[in-house]
Amino acid sequence: MEFENIDTIAALATAPGRGGVGIVRVSGKQAAAIAEAILGKIPKPRYAHYGAFYGEQGEILDRGIALYFPNPHSFTGEDVLELQGHGGPIVLQWLLERVVHLGARLAEPGEFSKQAFLNDKLDLAQAEAIADLIEASSAQAAKSALRSLQGDFSREINALVEEMIQLRLYVEAAIDFPEEEIDFLSDGKVGGQLQHILDRLHQVFASAQQGVLLREGMSVVILGRPNAGKSSLLNALSGKETAIVTDIAGTTRDIVKEEINIDGMPLHILDTAGVREATDQVEQIGIERAWAALDNADRVLVMLQAGEAIHPEDQAILDKLPHAIPVTLVRNKIDLIGHEPMIETEAQTGRAVIWLSAKHRQGLDLLRVHLKTEMGFAQTQEGVFMARKRHLDALQSALDFALKGQQQLEIYAAGELLAEDLRMAQDALSQITGRFTSDDLLGRIFSSFCIGK
Ligand code: GDP
Ligand code: ZN
Repeated sequence: MEFENIDTIAALATAPGRGGVGIVRVSGKQAAAIAEAILGKIPKPRYAHYGAFYGEQGEILDRGIALYFPNPHSFTGEDVLELQGHGGPIVLQWLLERVVHLGARLAEPGEFSKQAFLNDKLDLAQAEAIADLIEASSAQAAKSALRSLQGDFSREINALVEEMIQLRLYVEAAIDFPEEEIDFLSDGKVGGQLQHILDRLHQVFASAQQGVLLREGMSVVILGRPNAGKSSLLNALSGKETAIVTDIAGTTRDIVKEEINIDGMPLHILDTAGVREATDQVEQIGIERAWAALDNADRVLVMLQAGEAIHPEDQAILDKLPHAIPVTLVRNKIDLIGHEPMIETEAQTGRAVIWLSAKHRQGLDLLRVHLKTEMGFAQTQEGVFMARKRHLDALQSALDFALKGQQQLEIYAAGELLAEDLRMAQDALSQITGRFTSDDLLGRIFSSFCIGK
């Protein structure tokens, strides 16, 4: 698929602001002409060219290194020019304006990567991994994004698609010989290969799930009466002093959100206003937001005081919680009653209870390990590749079709229906690498990239 962008695009490829070096990147048909106008010559392909960058009147805008990559051997697959100048906002603005004046237009977010995808330099999962690598905020996330970028994830998907195609062809051949169809289907070969595909799909799904966890993390909301120690717990987990801790009930009036990570698993923790009947209007708003925050929560921590019976207000909170959200109880302030940190399971409800002190930072590891375990976050991230929710959805859909196909085979010996389900499963998987992807989805994916990538 050779895709020609009629426009030549340009953008600052380095982060805005000041730095030692700043790079203006140009991609498209006019890159060579632009190089000639600014440098006085077209640089030798893939060699560093050091010299002046000239303005319109022949004045020198900057001095730096230029690199020229003629198509198709470039990141985008088009002619690419990179101007590496001094990393000051004014100089880079001059360079960018000059390039635009010479006929390039400013690139949209992710447009270089999109061009690379359209020119088959990368598949969609790899292009997404570029954005994930740039956004990675833990070493684990960066490593798995790199693995996806190198094609580990895509190779798994392509191998699965290939297996499905082979099996489908075999089944379709059987359908063409109706009198032998039953033999074909019942000789065990089809069933065995289908099972193999299912096993492999499950494995990839599990790895992708870890990847999504690494990328998106889980959202934890801390609830409890005023003064339970919610803000103290948030601060203890984040190691910062973000939320205001005071002795005055109802201090946290808005929701404070903190991003932390436990061994690479990102956690979005929300500290809410004390959930009780508000006495003033501002506090009432905070309380409403606390309940609204539950809509996107993966887990709720309800904070109670250690050594005290559950207060009616606490019970009211617990009763009001939506049933779908898993709950962990935290018994805080163990220092006041001389209790050791520990984790136990409530006999009646099966809920975990963690005894800790937020203020004295005791028992926090019990909570961290508990959260990791509950989310199914693997101890080792070896072999995990970065993945997104949309990849999981596609894998789930492929699994559903493959399982349905297995039923068609085992219960009805229906080869035609099995072949159709295999084709559907194959289409679902292909969406991951983007072989058949709508413009709409492409637009959504690439517009979330940063400019210049
Ligand atoms: P919030 O209203 O639930 O956010 O509670 P805060 O985090 O603001 O804490 C309320 C008060 O309880 C503050 O004075 C904290 O210092 C205190 N506190 C929090 N955690 C502990 C703890 O583990 N032990 C003791 N003794 N006090 C705590
Ligand atoms: Zn608070």
